[in-house]
Amino acid sequence: MKRYLLTPGPTMISPEVQLEMAKPIIHHRAPEFIPLMEEVRENLKWLFGSKNEVLIFASSGTGAMDGAVTNTLCKGDKALVVDGGKFGERWANICKAYGVSAKVIKVEWGKSVNPSEVAKALEEDRDIKAVLIQASETSTGVVHPVKEIADIVKNYENTILIVDGITAVGVYPLPMDEWGIDVLITGSQKALMLPPGLAFAGVSDKAWKFVEKSDLPKFYFDFKKELKNIKDNQTAYTPAVSLIIGLAQVLREMKKEGLENIYKRHQRLADATREAMKAIGLKLFAPDSPSNAVTSVYSPEGIEAGKIIKYCRDKLGVTITGGQDQAKGKIFRIAHLGYYDRFDIIIAISAIEFALKALNYSFELGAGVKKALEILAE
Ligand SMILES: *Cc1c(COP(=O)(O)O)cnc(C)c1O
Repeated sequence: MKRYLLTPGPTMISPEVQLEMAKPIIHHRAPEFIPLMEEVRENLKWLFGSKNEVLIFASSGTGAMDGAVTNTLCKGDKALVVDGGKFGERWANICKAYGVSAKVIKVEWGKSVNPSEVAKALEEDRDIKAVLIQASETSTGVVHPVKEIADIVKNYENTILIVDGITAVGVYPLPMDEWGIDVLITGSQKALMLPPGLAFAGVSDKAWKFVEKSDLPKFYFDFKKELKNIKDNQTAYTPAVSLIIGLAQVLREMKKEGLENIYKRHQRLADATREAMKAIGLKLFAPDSPSNAVTSVYSPEGIEAGKIIKYCRDKLGVTITGGQDQAKGKIFRIAHLGYYDRFDIIIAISAIEFALKALNYSFELGAGVKKALEILAE
């Protein structure tokens, strides 16, 4: 059985990148590592839209989220957290773990935050030091209005904007310097088309001033220490060397495609997926502000979403994901980010159609695939 990984992380990896990573390991303190890091540093700045260094950690994405909190905030600080899903909840949990008091804006699952709520909260409490948000809330398939929120936070000298861009960097434009994003985070296993194991943090000049004052405990995820090291084309501790070799190749391929084309490709793939699901009579979970990284879809009445997911995986070799917590059993999620083209979309949609047919859902077989083809042919 041929296998297809269509989840919002880990995502598929190109054969060229796999071959790069299969090369003999090199020593990270040896001269041959230097040009590799120089290239990666430059291209990460390009991807993040920042003149500042992008720090690299050997961890999953959450490591950099943890570091974003512990490096910029102080004991007893207040933070404003936008919580519209599992990852928003994670921001609040990280704050709690370090004694940062989190004021939470609860957003209904499937909806995006209204920027005026952020504006109001900041106006009401001038002590809020940071706003923490997801650019793309993967658990619900929602995109939050980061640019509008950045425009608000910019006006507060004593507040920074920390953005989890883990399923947004490489999917959406998030130019850090231009928009005024203070910390931008991503991970390797999403739109960066690598195996899990690398986390990244871009840090603005404004945020570096917060780093100077921060007194929360930290050791491995120490931004100041990493900044010093990366300027010498090093990391403080052993980097995930093979992943960095793969990253260099990924960034070369991304530069060749161009950011505008990358964003357009994700838009088209997402459009095709959404319209295909509607064409077979299914309802989208996040119709108002859907993310271009992942489409979340309500399972039809009477069919538990887990059954669709299981059928796709066990009978068809296609891995998609379900919902968590309150959305468990109700939705399935089709990812379309990273190393992903129009044919992958057709595979995803036809797998859903095969599963629905087998589960006796009544619809016109092929209607979703046809709709997707029409959109992708435009
Ligand atoms: C995947 C993901 C994370 C966390 O990633 P790990 O690599 O599992 O730590 C955080 N935020 C968002 C939005 C994600 O999609």
